[in-house]
Amino acid sequence: MSQGRTLYLETMGCQMNALDSELTLGALMADGYRVTEDMAAADLVVLNTCSVRQHAEDKVYSRLGNLKRPADRNAQQIVAVIGCMAERDGDGLIEKMPHVDILCGPGELHRLPSLIHDVRSTHGRAVALSGRLRDRSTGVRHVPAHDDLESLDSGRTFGRTAHAATPKVFGRHQAYVRITRGCNKYCTFCVVPYTRGPERHRPPGQIVEEVRRLAASGVVEVTLLGQTVNHYRYPADSGAGETSFSDLLRRVHDEVPELPRLRFVTSFPRDFTDEALEVMAASPRICKYLHIPAQSGSDTVLKRMNRGYTAEEYLSLLERARSIMPDICLAGDMIVGFSGESEADFLLSMDLLREAKYKNCFIFKYSPRPDTVADNRLPDDVPDEEKRRRNNDMLSLQAGISLANNRAMLDRTVEVLAEGPSKSAIKAQESEQTRGQEVDPQATLRDQLVGRTQGDQIVVFTGAPEMVGRILQVTITAATPYTLHGDVADTGAAPSPTGHSLTVVGN
Ligand code: SAM
Repeated sequence: MSQGRTLYLETMGCQMNALDSELTLGALMADGYRVTEDMAAADLVVLNTCSVRQHAEDKVYSRLGNLKRPADRNAQQIVAVIGCMAERDGDGLIEKMPHVDILCGPGELHRLPSLIHDVRSTHGRAVALSGRLRDRSTGVRHVPAHDDLESLDSGRTFGRTAHAATPKVFGRHQAYVRITRGCNKYCTFCVVPYTRGPERHRPPGQIVEEVRRLAASGVVEVTLLGQTVNHYRYPADSGAGETSFSDLLRRVHDEVPELPRLRFVTSFPRDFTDEALEVMAASPRICKYLHIPAQSGSDTVLKRMNRGYTAEEYLSLLERARSIMPDICLAGDMIVGFSGESEADFLLSMDLLREAKYKNCFIFKYSPRPDTVADNRLPDDVPDEEKRRRNNDMLSLQAGISLANNRAMLDRTVEVLAEGPSKSAIKAQESEQTRGQEVDPQATLRDQLVGRTQGDQIVVFTGAPEMVGRILQVTITAATPYTLHGDVADTGAAPSPTGHSLTVVGN
């Protein structure tokens, strides 16, 4: 046991990392650690890293650089780099940063507590990477009950508040539940299949049970997670037939009626069936929201990316989704400046954005990732300045689309899950403090809450702290491209007093 020792944990990257951090934190707290925000003084520093773009890796090197030689650094401190960058960079990272004691890939996280014990007792180093995950897999794989990594998810502690120690990261009434690990798509730009390994699906019964226990402990909204979440499938015990993604959605919705909200991310366009859309439409507690990255609007670029669909096929899926669920909110991801992207290709991406009318779209400049197919075979031939220009053009186009969507919400009364104090209210309060004005520390926070609609739109409204965790009716009174503002029309029922959960608030 590590009773009384302190732990600093920082999470970068996607929702999958946020979930890994929560589960890892639960395991380390069970081992006796308590959380600190003081990185230099902590007995254990854990950086949960992302490799998806170079920028994310640079951030980790900068954090590690800060830790190298500060005079006030805890002399007994153990530094662990976990997650995708540990897996991708491997020993290279330890060579560059000799004060790193532990490297642990996302496929080995269940081993972290014992690696820490080993390092403390031997004063050596520990490396746990799943080089084997690089094996290409095209077949359907499922997670057997004895799978070691499965113990990370199935060992989740319910009704405990690991997340309460990190209120900046986790919200109380939302939780992630993994349904699929890894990815088999091998998009040519993407590092995920190399860092998280082949796709593996968790048994449906285990998923339903996890959601049920989260709901019983006060969670109001569960997000099912997978890199290509809608590719979920699990063979029946009898060997005949399988549980598809739409079957799973139906099961979770119907077998956990006490859960007010269910969502899922991230969907892969080619795998979306009409059956899944119909289950969404028929299930009132499944949020009418799809995050479904297109990446490009040019068929030549999509082909070079190995996405497996054309722009027309993609747009026809959005059309089907909207015809089945007219109120559905759609979000996308786009990459600008991918290898060989001409101005004409870029303009096709802009056209796709105009037609898709996303609620919001995450737009990224192409960042070559070592050892991916694109990095090995395709030149990174769009100059950075041009990538930046395309990125800015696309951001401003999307801002106009988002604003028009949000303005259409004016005067409507919508269901909002109150998540907590509004970040902008916190910022306003901090800036008043910086200007030396006296503020009642609770005043602004007490007033301004932030929440989300079923469609994942952010709503800021005036409310009381006890509303957090409730689903409220809010009438929309003002709109900006990224935020709606409103007034509470109905305060909803109080959340369960046993409230517990963990999720990232915001993207
Ligand atoms: N699995 C999802 C998919 O491909 O549809 C998303 C996974 S990825 C972690 C999140 C987003 O990062 C992608 O949708 C893509 O837009 C972006 N991304 C991934 N690799 C990138 C790269 N090499 N350069 C720039 N953006 C990248």
